[in-house]
Amino acid sequence: MRVRIRAAALNHLDLFVVEGLPGGARQLPHIVGADGAGVVESIGSGVANIRPGDRVMLNPGISDYTCEFCRAGEHSLCVNYCLLGEHLPGTAAELITVPAHNVARIPSLSPELTWAEAAAFSLVTLTAWRMLVTRAQLKSGETVLIWGIGGGVSLAALRIAKLHGARAIVTSSNDAKLDAARRLGADVTLNYRTQKISQEVRAITNKRGVDVVVENAGAASWDESLRSLRRGGRLVTCGATTGPHVSLDLRRLFWHHWSILGSTMGNAAEYAEIVRRLGQGELRPVVDRVFPMDRVREAYERLAKGQQLGKVVVEVSSGDP
Ligand SMILES: [Zn+2]
Repeated sequence: MRVRIRAAALNHLDLFVVEGLPGGARQLPHIVGADGAGVVESIGSGVANIRPGDRVMLNPGISDYTCEFCRAGEHSLCVNYCLLGEHLPGTAAELITVPAHNVARIPSLSPELTWAEAAAFSLVTLTAWRMLVTRAQLKSGETVLIWGIGGGVSLAALRIAKLHGARAIVTSSNDAKLDAARRLGADVTLNYRTQKISQEVRAITNKRGVDVVVENAGAASWDESLRSLRRGGRLVTCGATTGPHVSLDLRRLFWHHWSILGSTMGNAAEYAEIVRRLGQGELRPVVDRVFPMDRVREAYERLAKGQQLGKVVVEVSSGDP
């Protein structure tokens, strides 16, 4: 179906695409943007659940729905998995054509979700949900360490951790972000510029360590993540913003019974679940700032410098004809 985009949310992925990803020779010019929300303009034959005029948000992960993983319901393991804005033209455009599987009607909330919030929702919430709920199997009463709380995935992970009755320790290099994180429900905040995270975590957890670590920084935080993990703990990672290569002492891995879990995006059932939860008011995304399209460069600079707390969003069109 064709969707007229009202707002597109930025992701680090966009910056990586611009810098060039392995195996990523894209056709140029390329349209970035994985996240978006807008109004359905037209639908293909056979689309029953969505009508032109519906307000929708997009799930950026495109699957073929035919391979063995898709047939098993694991759409983000699809052998032909593609992302809007990475392998396909993205959402920073007036119009986009996507499969009907990839749109969800924006739920009605009070106060109503803004276009920016709707655009900010899908990628980070889906990613964080699969990381914590499906992969790490986070349980009530457990303690989770979340790195870099300014980022969208980390903020979604904080929301999800609190929703599941977990205790959340979050980190940032910025005290103002840590103050904001406390207001958003973080139980403990640590500044990784001025504090040794693993030492603090050991002190807070009575030397035990945390049950789950949510990683997306990679090289810069990896060793401290492992040092913060309890015996039998789970580290779940979806990113490598500070570098993809880390070291691992296998003796520590098996001796401590650690689980190191990779995760990216999520399947259709997980997406349906987070949209349902959003409709209950539970997973409202945190929007940092909204920029008009003609200031998109500033928006990307803010993201590249890591100044944001939540999602940076670009307003693509006001909707006026
Ligand atoms: Zn597939």
